[in-house]
Parts: sequence; structure tokens; C-alpha cells
Amino acid sequence: MVANENRLTELTVGACRLELCQGDITDQVVDAIVNAANSRLAGGGGVDGAIHRRGGPSIMAETKAKYPEGCPTGSAVISGAGNLSAKYVIHAVGPVWQGGNAGEAKLLASAYQKALDLAVQHDCQSVAFPALSTGAYSYPLVEAAQIALRTVIEFLRERQAPPLVRFVLFDRHTFDVFAQQLAQLQAG
Ligand code: ADP
Repeated sequence: MVANENRLTELTVGACRLELCQGDITDQVVDAIVNAANSRLAGGGGVDGAIHRRGGPSIMAETKAKYPEGCPTGSAVISGAGNLSAKYVIHAVGPVWQGGNAGEAKLLASAYQKALDLAVQHDCQSVAFPALSTGAYSYPLVEAAQIALRTVIEFLRERQAPPLVRFVLFDRHTFDVFAQQLAQLQAG
């Protein structure tokens, strides 16, 4: 456990570990990288743009062939990872923020759960997540961090897998907010 005043960047949950780091998710050496996808799996900016740029066209070709209907909000689908070092990309679709009364919290938690389910089904030992819905989809950061962390911790407690879940936060502010929220969850 690494604590710094009111920040926490690692947590052990039984035999599993939750880590927070700042960086680019496409640099991660893990079994599965989670993409912040849209429901048409159509490609976009942010995490999705970075994954398809570095992973190459095989990822989009595979998702188009396997999931022509796309993926509903609050769910996830899995593909290979092309030129990325990961084995899989898990395309999770978080909700667009619409003010908070459109079921956003449940949908965001569900996107994390479905992504973790797929990771466990495919025997992934390590999974990297971005902060789903907090970019183009405008989910308020503190609330999104609370849901992300609570959902992952609960999943690890119940399932005792995958062994490593790492949140890869792109900018310093997002990293700081996650670290503060993790400390609060641990204290509470
Ligand atoms: P969404 O549409 O779900 O909001 P975005 O990709 O727009 O998804 O943003 C989600 C979060 O990922 C934001 O905090 C954004 O700053 C961050 N992000 C963007 N590019 C990367 C990257 N290469 N690695 C990790 N996080 C990233």
C-alpha cells in the first residue's frame, strides 16, 4: 500500500492488486488493454484513436466482422490487439454524461464489470483500464473515479481475479483525483 497524505496508488485485494499510474494506455505491457469505445465500435479520438493508431487496422477489421451490431452502452466486447503488446483489446462502452438522471452510474459500473468478466473468461493475468467516459463523454471526474474504483474493488473481492488491474490515467489531474478517491475509499 503506497499512501501519500490523502492519496493512495496501490491496493491489495486478497491475492489481487489494484494500481494507479499516469501514462498512455497503449504503452502498457499487460494481457488486456481496455478501450473507451463508442457503441458503434466506429472509432473515435481519445483512447480509441490511440489504440487503433498503434494497434493497426486488424483490430477494427475484427470488431467489424465479429460485432457488426456494435456494443450496447454499459457492455463490452473483446478482440485481438494487433501490433500492441497486449493479447487482447476489450472494447468497453461507457455512457455519455447527460446530467446524471439517465442511469449513467449503473451503465458506467456495468461497462467496468463486463470488461472484467471478459478479462477473466480469457484468463488475463493483467488488465489496464482508462478512465472510461471521462473524456469526450464528459462524465464528472470525481464521480467517475468513485464508480470505477468501487466497481473494480468489489469485483476483485468477489472473484479474486484478475491478479492485476491497473488504471492508466492520461493526465496529472485525472491521476490525482483517482489517487484521492482511492484513499477515501480505503479510509471509509
Ligand atoms: P470517453 O469517450 O469514454 O469519454 P475518451 O477516450 O474521450 O473516452 O477519454 C477517456 C479518458 O481517457 C480521458 O480521461 C482521456 O484524457 C483519457 N485518455 C485519452 N487518451 C489516452 C491514452 N492514450 N491513454 C490513457 N488515457 C487516455
